[in-house]
Parts: sequence; C-alpha cells; structure tokens
Amino acid sequence: MSNELLEQIDRLTQRRPVYKEALSVYRDLMIFLNEIEPEIPYIMKDELVHDIKVKEGFPLFSKEDLPLDLKAASSLFHQLLEHLSSEERKDREALEKVLNRVQTDSHWIESVITAFLSSDEAIIVNMAEEVSLAPMVLKFLTHMALRPSLDTLKESVIERIQKDSWNYGYCPLCGSSPDMAYLDEQGKRFLHCALCGYEWYYPRLRCPFCENNESKELGCFVSEEEEGFRVDFCKKCNRYIKTLDMRVIDSPAPLELENLITLHLDMLAHEQGFKDPHS
Ligand SMILES: [Zn+2]
Ligand SMILES: [Zn+2]
Repeated sequence: MSNELLEQIDRLTQRRPVYKEALSVYRDLMIFLNEIEPEIPYIMKDELVHDIKVKEGFPLFSKEDLPLDLKAASSLFHQLLEHLSSEERKDREALEKVLNRVQTDSHWIESVITAFLSSDEAIIVNMAEEVSLAPMVLKFLTHMALRPSLDTLKESVIERIQKDSWNYGYCPLCGSSPDMAYLDEQGKRFLHCALCGYEWYYPRLRCPFCENNESKELGCFVSEEEEGFRVDFCKKCNRYIKTLDMRVIDSPAPLELENLITLHLDMLAHEQGFKDPHS
C-alpha cells in the first residue's frame, strides 16, 4: 500500500464528507491489511491452474468454484473482526456478536463466504440479521477477507485470459458482472469485475448485462455534484453501471473504493427505476 492511497483517501474525505465514515473504515483496513502477516499464506494449487481449459465465451472459472484459499480467507475474516471490534465503532456490538458466533460455530465464516461467492443474497441477509450487522458490512468484510486469495489467483492466471478476443459483459476470469466502468484517456470503456477486480475492454454502445446495442435504448445521466461521474443505463433490461471518465477526473481512487463512495449515484439510478446491476 502506498502513502499515495492514504493521501488520496484524505482528499476524498474532504471532498465528500458524507462518506467520512466509510472512508475512515476503508483507510483503517488498508493500513491493517498492509501490516498483518498472513497467518496462513495464500496458496494457489498449481494443478488447478494447469487444468484450465480455455473455451470461447467461457470465463476461466465460475464464481462458485474459484480455486480460492478459503482457509486463509476465513482466518483473515477472523482477524478483521477482531481488529474492527476493538475499535470505537457504531456497530461494535454487532461485530462482537459476530465474533461470538464465530467462536461457537466454526463453519459460520465459511458459510458466509460460500453464500457470498454464489451471490445468495437471502442467506447473507439472514446471516447478517442473526448477528445484527448490516448485510452490506458483512459483504464488505467477506470481500476484504477474500481479496488476498483473489489477488493470488489473478496473478497466477492472468496470462491465460484471452484479452483481445473477450467482448462479453462478464469477467473473463471469474464470470462475475461488473460493478463499475471507466472511460480511459482515449475514451475507450473498460469494465471492472465486482468480485476479482479484473478490468476488460467493452464497447461503449452495448449494455454489459443484456448485450443490447440499440442506441435509442441506451442512455446516461451525469452526476451534478462532481464532473466525470455518470451512470450508463439500458432501458431494455433496466440495469445501470456507474462510470468514471478518466479524461476528466484527476487522480481517481481505486474503483472498488469509488464504488463505495458513489452510493448517491446508485440512489439516483434507483429513483429513476433502474435495478441494481447485480440483482
Ligand atoms: Zn472477476
Ligand atoms: Zn441491458
């Protein structure tokens, strides 16, 4: 982690005070993740990587059977819980409840991770309610705990990805839908995977969710608060994606962070009747 990221988070906190709390948790976790030595090193089983069969239009893995190090992720989840519940936070009590739950049920964390990876919203909501934690926080922690394993996986398979011939709306590595998009310096659009963070090129005039390319059914609205932020939507499937225009924004934050601090854009999209991209 670079100091640059921390400085950027501080700048963002000044610019978007509404997200102060989310930004401070993110900042704190970035420092924590950078400082801890993994209790269990993140292991990538070689035979699984060698076994990948590259087939046209198929991602390397499906989300449910990504060869991730779940033991390492569970252990990191536990460390994150201990760290966060030792701090002054509004949801400290809930986090302590999670810790207790985890101590009495050793499979709890793995069940959350499995539900998260299979996008089983109902189970996640249930498990979150059980411990009085916001489902969003539970998902965020799960994602954070999986990150080192996802990064290890990404590094080991990145060369296998068919970069140039991939023009689908789902991630070539894990098959997940994108959570954000950006336009690069040349105005080319790239999608950012909601799970593994891989980025790939995708035509601007096509909906990533239903592949609709009728220009009269595609549109966008812009953020009035900040230049360079917009929401692209599709009237055919009613889905939307938040997009950052890198030609306008200077020093953008990592997209996973931008996603967390652009919830006002999600709200605008919902108000206009567009569905969450992952529903
Ligand atoms: Zn992915
Ligand atoms: Zn669509």
